Amino acid sequence: MRDISHKIAFSGLPAPARFGDVFDPNRGSVQARVALGDRALLDRAVEAAKKAQPAWAAVNPQRRARVMFEFKALVERNMDELARLLSSEHGKVIADAKGDIQRGLEVIEFCCGIPHALKGEYTQGAGPGIDVYSMRQPLGIGAGITPFNFPAMIPLWMSGVAIATGNAFILKPSERDPSVPVRLAELFLEAGLPEGILQVVHGDKEMVDAILDHPDIAAVSFVGSSDIAHYVYRRGVEAGKRVQAMGGAKNHGIVMPDADLDQVVNDLSGAAFGSAGERCMALPVVVPVGEKTAAALREKMLPAIEALRVGVSTDPDAHYGPVVSAAHKARIENYIQMGVDEGAELVVDGRGFTLQGHEEGFFVGPTLFDHVTPTMRSYQEEIFGPVLQMVRAGSFEEALALPSQHQYGNGVAIFTRNGHAAREFAARVNVGMVGINVPIPVPVAYHTFGGWKRSAFGDTNQHGMEGVKFWTKVKTVTQRWPDGGASGESAFIIPTMG
Ligand code: NAD
Repeated sequence: MRDISHKIAFSGLPAPARFGDVFDPNRGSVQARVALGDRALLDRAVEAAKKAQPAWAAVNPQRRARVMFEFKALVERNMDELARLLSSEHGKVIADAKGDIQRGLEVIEFCCGIPHALKGEYTQGAGPGIDVYSMRQPLGIGAGITPFNFPAMIPLWMSGVAIATGNAFILKPSERDPSVPVRLAELFLEAGLPEGILQVVHGDKEMVDAILDHPDIAAVSFVGSSDIAHYVYRRGVEAGKRVQAMGGAKNHGIVMPDADLDQVVNDLSGAAFGSAGERCMALPVVVPVGEKTAAALREKMLPAIEALRVGVSTDPDAHYGPVVSAAHKARIENYIQMGVDEGAELVVDGRGFTLQGHEEGFFVGPTLFDHVTPTMRSYQEEIFGPVLQMVRAGSFEEALALPSQHQYGNGVAIFTRNGHAAREFAARVNVGMVGINVPIPVPVAYHTFGGWKRSAFGDTNQHGMEGVKFWTKVKTVTQRWPDGGASGESAFIIPTMG
């Protein structure tokens, strides 16, 4: 059996005491085991980071950017191998695995411009003979804790910006698909990143708690489910750290009566079922406005669902593959039963789906519910599977209220040809990322990613200038160069520039 080890700048580690199983979701069997680390292991990584970080911070930003350029080229050269590895542990199809890597690389492209992003502010003559300037300096050592569903993109959201701004970064990836993060760390070394600047420690709650409590880790970025995000936020802040913690989601797609329904059905199929619904920006709730829209949408949606091909993740014709684990498959199927028990209409039932030759694989067929209502628990909670729930709304206002009042506020989309309705919706909806005829409005890397309400704790988003802000602190200098003639007076009032 293959063992997946930590990637830290220290040799001679003691043999791990604990391991976690890494599954092959296509087959439902264990394919590798990952070492689960503890505080002692983290201490070694932090020591290495402490040693390496000051010199890295002193490297001029252009040279740090060159490592990013080189890393980008290396990842592109290794794209096929990385995508296969990612797909084999996560279960998303190969083309989608490449998308996962590509979206991460786009943050690296942003980091190639880090010298520009790090330029400070300057005021000449803020007072008589006085200039003021500010600079952004790295925090020191940062850590990232990431979920299973984007094992390339999310580690790169964090590590790219943290490293480019001069920090050392310790990544604790999901223990369910840990191989790609290790491979990315190896490629960073190959690209010229000094040892100790990016390290990978594996683990579960024990390692997460060690990170949150470690006095030498200045900032923690977390992405995962909301209860854990909230816990990480509380505990990290209590320990005096800077923390950003992104959580779960339940994104709605509002379909106005004037929408292009064929386009909506195409968009919904991909956004609700792509990656087996295991995306925080998936669109698992559709809200048709008006009974006529609902009837027409349902009629068009059914054949589209029928045409979906569920297959092994290496099948180039499959639209989506298995979910990540048996436990997650059981959780999704429980939510389907909950929907039935709560009185929603189960139009297409994806439970009990099997694939010939892969009977033990973690597959869930596409599922459609109609007549879902806001009081149902299966609506209020995140399912994170290939399950689309239709909630019928009588008016624009009713539709707008649904995502606005939901506990999650990650993404939302409106489908319409009416510019006024779209504009009104974007301005008023209580959600962080909005798509207008765009089903998955994940912002490009030079903008920033982040939801509202229980989808994000903390106040800075991922990547873009918000990421630069998160991973740096501002120092402001007020300077005066006397001309030699001392005034000889002491000032006892607060200095003003007046
Ligand atoms: P998860 O919360 O189970 O795990 C995330 C991380 O937390 C992992 O590294 C895991 O090892 C660690 N962890 C797990 N249990 C813990 C505990 N009890 N204490 C401390 N740490 C613990 O999430 P997941 O299942 O890997 O990922 C799916 C979730 O992530 C979904 O809720 C999804 O919506 C969310 N997500 C959110 C975003 C976003 O940007 N808002 C992006 C991707 C995924």
